Amino acid sequence: MSYIKPTILVTGGAGYIGSHTVQCLQDAGYEVVILDNLMYGHRDLVENVLKAKLIVGDISDRALLDRVFATYPIAAVVHFAAYAYVGESVSFPDKYYRNNVVGTLTLLEAMLAASVDKIVFSSTCATYGIPAIVPIPEEHPQNPINPYGISKLTVEKMLADFGRAYGLKSVIFRYFNAAGADPLARLGEDHTPETHLIPLVLLAALGKRESISILGTDYPTPDGTCIRDYTHVADLAQAHVLGLEYLLDGGESNIFNLGNGNGFSVKEVIGTARLVTGQFIKAIECPRRLGDPPVLVGSSDKARKILNWQPQYRDLQSMLLHAWTWHLQRHGQEPSLVWQAGHFRSHQNLKAI
Ligand code: UDP
Repeated sequence: MSYIKPTILVTGGAGYIGSHTVQCLQDAGYEVVILDNLMYGHRDLVENVLKAKLIVGDISDRALLDRVFATYPIAAVVHFAAYAYVGESVSFPDKYYRNNVVGTLTLLEAMLAASVDKIVFSSTCATYGIPAIVPIPEEHPQNPINPYGISKLTVEKMLADFGRAYGLKSVIFRYFNAAGADPLARLGEDHTPETHLIPLVLLAALGKRESISILGTDYPTPDGTCIRDYTHVADLAQAHVLGLEYLLDGGESNIFNLGNGNGFSVKEVIGTARLVTGQFIKAIECPRRLGDPPVLVGSSDKARKILNWQPQYRDLQSMLLHAWTWHLQRHGQEPSLVWQAGHFRSHQNLKAI
């Protein structure tokens, strides 16, 4: 596209996938306005790295949304802002329904009032529940097993209803496991609290945690640990630009899985992290975590075909190397460790253990 590119509102743009997507949108020439309540997002990354306009506030603040839409010529919304801790959603479902569902409803109402009729929405493979077939296609039945998944599925249904009633066009992305960091280490994953496997493993490698717990070793998988479809965050970000351009070019509402198509077990992740970091990472075998399906791997054929999505970093080594370089930088670690991360690039005989 050679014309002046429109302004895009990115909710949750100070978070993990959101910030990488903002960077990708900026690289593609879009003006970006970020709306983030900074509960989990990072002001320093927005101000020092992205240098995007940041509005600190909540998607459930209708008056604020009205002001944002009145102030900026927003052509479309990329909507990440949500709570995303599965365990917490079981303990505090009200928090998830209020923010993820009611907050999104408020956003959609403000969009309608401002005649903004395009939205890219972050959904999740958690809407599928326990899969009956793997790799999971988009038509797979959706039976989420926790309030987080139900909240995202509810928004999917709201988007379909708003499409029928008001002509809202949406691209829904169902992510599998986001992993890695900006290959130039400008952005990365930094959650508090951290519950995800890869950052926890790397924090153990950094000495910030004593060990990593392997949550279940008796699953019906080759090594007994859960298999997940880790997908590089830079590839996810690229998909959002493609999804947005699909809508801006007049595409109809659509739903796409975003996965890597490769599954990796918890033990493979830990083994590869040991090689990438050069650190001994103590792993302790523990009981299963409630609600973890043994295998979650998605089919992304549709995104490849319709959006021409071509993930660049499909190997676990690249994801871990980029995440490790980011963690070293974020935690101000020794240059020797950074050197080890760089040295790893030439390591030819890497095998997960
Ligand atoms: N996992 C683990 N130890 C941890 C955290 C996670 O063994 O400390 C496992 C978890 O059981 C799952 C996989 O790692 O099989 C990925 O979990 P994560 O929380 O990163 O993502 P999820 O698949 O839950 O979205």
